Amino acid sequence: MNHPDFKRPLIVSLITSLIAALATSAAHAHGATEHAAAAGVDLTRLPIGNKVTTSPQRGAVYSCQTQFNGGGAFATGKWINGDGTYNLNAKPIIDGAVSWPSQFTLSVSNGVRKIIGNDLPSHPTGTYPVATTDDAYQYDRNPNRISSQNLSYNLTLNPEASATPACLNMGPIGVLLSGSYVFNALDAGGRDAVAYELQDSCQGHPERSGAYHYHSITTCLEDKPSGGHSPLLGYAIDGFGIYGHYGQNGETLTNADLDECHGHTHEIDWDGKNVVMYHYHATWEYPYTIGCLRGKAGSSTGGTGSGTGTGTTSPTANYSGLWIDSSNPTWGVSFYQDNSSSLMFFLGYDGAGSPAWYGVFDARWSSSTTLSGTVYRFAGGTGSSVFNPANARSTVAGSATMQFDSTSSATVSAQIDGSSVSRKVSRIR
Ligand SMILES: [Zn+2]
Ligand SMILES: [Zn+2]
Repeated sequence: MNHPDFKRPLIVSLITSLIAALATSAAHAHGATEHAAAAGVDLTRLPIGNKVTTSPQRGAVYSCQTQFNGGGAFATGKWINGDGTYNLNAKPIIDGAVSWPSQFTLSVSNGVRKIIGNDLPSHPTGTYPVATTDDAYQYDRNPNRISSQNLSYNLTLNPEASATPACLNMGPIGVLLSGSYVFNALDAGGRDAVAYELQDSCQGHPERSGAYHYHSITTCLEDKPSGGHSPLLGYAIDGFGIYGHYGQNGETLTNADLDECHGHTHEIDWDGKNVVMYHYHATWEYPYTIGCLRGKAGSSTGGTGSGTGTGTTSPTANYSGLWIDSSNPTWGVSFYQDNSSSLMFFLGYDGAGSPAWYGVFDARWSSSTTLSGTVYRFAGGTGSSVFNPANARSTVAGSATMQFDSTSSATVSAQIDGSSVSRKVSRIR
């Protein structure tokens, strides 16, 4: 992670100079479903996940958020067995077959895997908001409308496993090759989203800001075409691959086969080369995709420099200063730039609606006026508008781009915890 390389006084002065509040809550309300066939696993009696932990634990979601405030489906139905299990095959599916102009590109350059898209899936989705005529409506009235998002990640090509995994935020924890986000296994109420919520026939649904996402691997991507190990189906935000349900001998994997982050290490085909590498797997059981982030913190920013933009382009002006949205003065960015590095800080609200500090440390200039990077959320050093760096930890929360129209006008686009925000900002000093 790059943070310790930065001078703390600079960070503190940047943050304390910023009296800004992100007016967008990333609260995650929705409804959800699933269907499938699996050898060796009884899909009619899957244990309802109930392990939400504050440290890595097998079979659990190691959650950054520890307080939950409702949302999700409001009624449970006959697929909940009453003995702590549920019947995946008995869950109603959100009706519909809506096609979307999906955009999704994967590219590799300068040691970075760039993922850019609009989060709209390459497969059809159900009809959202859930129609009153849908039989699922009696259980889950997901009122959200699917909308295009600014999906953008710079992932390291060769992530390294860390002995101390990171917690999972609400919001995106990965992207599947269908072009849409993976969220963790929890709904807004901190419950097993696959057990309690209803999804469409590709296991997706939109949250409050319209971001279509899965809480489990979509069955609309082909898994196990050859009978052996599952193919790569997506990427986690720490850069590691997400694979399907099947291990090296074609066996259906369970939590018992995987570590606390829901992955394991063996030889895989990685960008056309056979390498021994950590990777995540889907299981039919909770937590379904990822239990915690195994990648070294900061690896998903790509590159190995400490806070340097190592791209071939560089800015032609110095944009350092305090940038505020004049139409909504509770929102702003404190931005610092010198020859070798840039820092961006803002105060926002996390998925629970609590204030949270965010920072972008090693953003890259993709043109002389466009800067993008991974957004980190600080925890432990914050809690209000007072920032205490001595206690700060950080975890990946999303991504942000700052596009400068001039030295006094810019647009900040960010995706944090699954919510997208785009703001015109002006430099006030
Ligand atoms: Zn959801
Ligand atoms: Zn594997």
